[in-house]
Amino acid sequence: MLALAGYPLGFQFRFYDISAEAPAGDLADLVVGSYEDQRALSRFVEGLDCITYEFENVPVGCARFLSKYLPVLPSPKALEVSQDRFTEKNFFRNLRIPTPDFIEVRSRVALGRALNQMGFPAVLKTRRLGYDGKGQLVIKKNADIEKAWQALKTQPQILEQFINFDRELSILSVRGRDGKIIFYPLVENQHRDGILRLSLAPAPRLTIELQKQAEAYATRVLEALEYVGVLTIEFFQVNEKLFANEMAPRVHNSGHWTIEGAETSQFENHLRAIAGLPLGSTQPRGYSAMVNLIGTLPSIKNMLALPGTHLHLYNKALRAGRKLGHITICAERRKERDAQLAELKTQINLS
Ligand code: AMP
Repeated sequence: MLALAGYPLGFQFRFYDISAEAPAGDLADLVVGSYEDQRALSRFVEGLDCITYEFENVPVGCARFLSKYLPVLPSPKALEVSQDRFTEKNFFRNLRIPTPDFIEVRSRVALGRALNQMGFPAVLKTRRLGYDGKGQLVIKKNADIEKAWQALKTQPQILEQFINFDRELSILSVRGRDGKIIFYPLVENQHRDGILRLSLAPAPRLTIELQKQAEAYATRVLEALEYVGVLTIEFFQVNEKLFANEMAPRVHNSGHWTIEGAETSQFENHLRAIAGLPLGSTQPRGYSAMVNLIGTLPSIKNMLALPGTHLHLYNKALRAGRKLGHITICAERRKERDAQLAELKTQINLS
C-alpha cells in the first residue's frame, strides 16, 4: 500500500522480506534474506535514498545496521521503544501520558506480588513480540494465575491493570522532516479475538476535547523521538479520559480507511514525510468504515456489488486469523455509511 501510494509521486521501491512469498514482491524488486544477513542487506541498500519499515518487529540491530548506509525513518530508536511493552509504557509514563497501571514480572513469585498489589482482573503480557492479542492472558481469579504463568513463563512479561474501557480509539499522526506535525481524526476500533475487525472514521461522538487530548499525547511522543513518518497510538477511552495501550511506529491498519476516506492517505503522508516533502491534508472525505477480511474471503462479486465499497486484497495465502484484505466504505453522510455497513455485514460475519 505504501508503494501503491508512492508510484504516482514518482517514487521507486525495493522491498526486503524474510519470506519470498511477501505480497510486495508483486510490485517491485524483492530482496529476500534474514534480518541478520548483512550481505543481503548490503545488496538491498544499493542505490536507495531512504529506508522505512512497516513492521514493528524488525530487529533494532538490523535497522541500526542499515542506518549506517542511509537514513532509516522512523529512527531505529522508535522501533526499540515500541518493541518492548515495559520500555514503551515507561516511555509513556515519563512523558506523563496515562497508561493502564503496569508492573514488570520476572518470576512466579513476582507475579503473585504484582497481583496482590494490582488486584483482579489483570492482563499478563509478554514484553516482546505480542500482537493481535497474542502473548497475553487475562487473569480474573486465583485459578487463572498458574495457567497464565505456564503459558507465558518462557518470556519476560509485564502485568497490566485490566481496563474496563468504553471503547478503543487510535490516532494517526505524521511528523515531517522539518518537524511539522499533523493529525487524522481519532478512529474507533472494534476487535474480535484480539484482532482489529472494524474501524469507524472519524470516531462516532468524537469531541474536540478528546481529539485534543490524543493530539497532545502524540505530539509528546513525536517530539521526544524526533520522529519522522506516521506514528499510531492506540488508546482505551474511559469516560472522557484516554489511556495509551501501545504505539506503532508505522502506517497502521486503523488508518487504511484514509486511502479513500481522506484527502491524503496515511501511506502517501508517510512517504511525503520521510522524503522531506510537504505533508498533505488529513481532512476526511465524509464518513468511512474499514472492515478487515480475516481468515477467509467472502464472494468478491457480492462484495463489489455493494455500493460505495472499495476492496483491497493482499494476495496472501489463506490462513485462520490472517488479515487477507480489507474493505472501505466511504459516504458523504453518516447514515448512508451506516446503511452500507449494515448491508456489508449481511455478506460477511462481522458480529
Ligand atoms: P494489545 O496487543 O496490547 O494491543 O492488546 C490487544 C487487545 O486486547 C486490545 O486491543 C484490547 O482489546 C485488549 N487489551 C489489551 N490490554 C488490555 C488492558 N490492559 N485492559 C483491557 N483490555 C486490554
